[in-house]
Amino acid sequence: MTPNDAINYEQVFSKIPTVLSTIKNLGNVASYIPELSNVDDTKFGIHLITTQNKSFSYGDAQERFSIQSIAKVLSFTLALKLEGKELWKRVGVEPSGNAFNSLSQLELENGIPRNPFINAGALLICDVLVSHLKNPKEEFILLVRKLVGKDDINYCERIALSEKEHGFRNAAMLNFMKSYGNINNDVDAVLDFYFHLCSIEMNCEELAQSMMYLCSNGINPLNNEEVVSPSRAKRINAVMQLCGFYDEAGEFSFKVGLPGKSGVGGGIVALHPLIYCVAVWSPKLNEKGNSYRGMKILEYFTTQTESSIF
Ligand code: GLN
Repeated sequence: MTPNDAINYEQVFSKIPTVLSTIKNLGNVASYIPELSNVDDTKFGIHLITTQNKSFSYGDAQERFSIQSIAKVLSFTLALKLEGKELWKRVGVEPSGNAFNSLSQLELENGIPRNPFINAGALLICDVLVSHLKNPKEEFILLVRKLVGKDDINYCERIALSEKEHGFRNAAMLNFMKSYGNINNDVDAVLDFYFHLCSIEMNCEELAQSMMYLCSNGINPLNNEEVVSPSRAKRINAVMQLCGFYDEAGEFSFKVGLPGKSGVGGGIVALHPLIYCVAVWSPKLNEKGNSYRGMKILEYFTTQTESSIF
């Protein structure tokens, strides 16, 4: 019996409406990027895909939303592929224990970001991609479309612009790293790529599909192409486990027990290597910037299915 056969997904999904009715919709929608606050905060969607290509869905799982920092898993994947282990000279793999947009740690650590998922690290990854790619935005979105298997996945110009108009902290971090010689390209070009990366829109089904390569030893199951080597897929999952939720990574490991990544649009992706990938969306965030109901429902899910990695 494979682990997938051992999980009664249908039964666990059928109870989601009842479980949801017991979870208050607490927290706040992100408003520091004004366009992100124009979302219906009662939305809730979840979609799970197994490595045997079965899908389970509930709620607003077909509605697209801003995936924000979840896209950083995909940019990190591409940077690791292009740059290889040289990347580790410029960014670490340690949990930050700090807010995603914290500036203070950068100074203490001489402009080397703790990991590729805090904003400073993700900005550095964007610098790497701007160095390697002729047309970073075009080439990156093509990769994302291949992972999802859809040609209409896109950046949202409205959200990218809204973030650009309010992205002073990100600009500060990037300039600060440049002062340490850790950024090679023009700051505005890197910021423009970063804001676009964060503005990508997907629904829960597309988001779960986009990360199936991390469930499948680095292979995109839609076309059997290797996205990254098995060893790198394992390492990306390790970084997600330790750094995917900023200063709440410990809590997510403790309560959910899966590698995952959150975004301030209210999305969370989590996966069990070789078994399933699940994406959830609920826009209201807790004080750490992670989806309040998203965390709760994933805790319910891994508890009921006894499928945490631990
Ligand atoms: N675009 C957002 C920012 O840079 C992403 C943050 C997030 O999703 N945690 O602030």
